[in-house]
Amino acid sequence: MELPKSAYTPRDGARLREAHAHIAQHGLSLSMVGLESCASGGEMLDRIAGRVAQEPGSARPLLAGGARPEVWALDATGSAWPGLDALDRVTGERACCAWCFDYHALMANSAALRIAGIDRDTPDGPGAIIGRDAGGGLTGVVYERAAIRVWDAVIGGEGLRNRGLLAEAIRSLAGFGFAEVHDLKAQAWLGPELRTLDGGAGGEFLGGLPIDVVLWPLVEDLGDVVSSRGEWETDRVRLGGGKIFVDGTLNSRTAWMLHDYADALERGLPGKPRGVAMMSPDEIEEAVRRCDGSGVPMAAHAIGDAAVRAVLDAIERVRPKTPGFRIEHAELIDEADVRRFADLGVICSVQPCHLLYDIEALRRAVPDRLDRVLPLRSLIDAGCEPGRGLIFGSDTPIVRPDPGDSVQAAVERQRVGMGAGEAIGLGEAITEGEAWACFS
Ligand SMILES: [Zn+2]
Repeated sequence: MELPKSAYTPRDGARLREAHAHIAQHGLSLSMVGLESCASGGEMLDRIAGRVAQEPGSARPLLAGGARPEVWALDATGSAWPGLDALDRVTGERACCAWCFDYHALMANSAALRIAGIDRDTPDGPGAIIGRDAGGGLTGVVYERAAIRVWDAVIGGEGLRNRGLLAEAIRSLAGFGFAEVHDLKAQAWLGPELRTLDGGAGGEFLGGLPIDVVLWPLVEDLGDVVSSRGEWETDRVRLGGGKIFVDGTLNSRTAWMLHDYADALERGLPGKPRGVAMMSPDEIEEAVRRCDGSGVPMAAHAIGDAAVRAVLDAIERVRPKTPGFRIEHAELIDEADVRRFADLGVICSVQPCHLLYDIEALRRAVPDRLDRVLPLRSLIDAGCEPGRGLIFGSDTPIVRPDPGDSVQAAVERQRVGMGAGEAIGLGEAITEGEAWACFS
């Protein structure tokens, strides 16, 4: 689904903050074949065939992203993705990987599967699911850790570490009006690479980077990053804190919920009607202590209302001295937890733009709790000040980083052109002024 451009645009000279991005991945995504507007697996093949024709003889891996198989028609075998044979016919021997927009599933062609060492005898592993047809043959679709295995094998472990891509990402984000961008899973090499760019390497940014960049590496990498920060921090590049993942995603029904998904049987993981907790309460608490002990805050990926509550509980138990602890995404928040953000000084870092893409999935997954989706009005009324206690981002490259999309979602709670009554949780709408303030 390609969204129409929102009518909301920032005022001239506004200095905006993108609070949740993945900078290197954003840079790579700029060169990938975009599948956002495809309506079927057949259209995906056409789009990839178009790129093959533009680059005759190229042996570089052909990378695509933005697929939405959830809304594509199913073929005779019950699959929305195209068949592996059909993809192979289009790509030949050139390795090809096409991501689902949420980066939790990927379709690879046979050449890419071979590079990753996956054949029909390869077993699934913990969190690594390999798609198979009724006869046990590979479908080319791989999930979660299996998807990451194929991707890493095809682009190479250091494939994202590319100064040219990084420079393009910075230029692109500055072009959306951002003066500050936060990277929410910063690789260990990102700080040093940004410092080099900030120093004018290669003549890219002679006056220094055009934006400030704030890095949030995984908590497990925090020790190294903190001890080396003197070597890479600059006026423009600094450490934000540590990042953890408490649950999965709404799209894959792995976000950790207080109540069962309404469509758990059809779309959920077997035996996981409320999604998945990826960390125990003790582990979350330990991460809070570790960040606080390093003198930096923590940002916790928590999409479901149970995950949000678990993070708030851990912060309440520890009461960290360092300010700036954040919960990322918080797509559902139970009524009892709204007030706790301001009370505990926890920043709610949300990406309202995702609502525009997720309307249909939300109606299927949580039809009785649509009023709990991104309760922005309640958060502000409970003391989360726009821009300080409530901040906006996009999670690019999951979706495009156009800030007008989040303003559209926060103010209208629906896509441009939808009919009255299709909005999600209209009672939680905020004003346009408040929405822009969440970006500054
Ligand atoms: Zn993210």
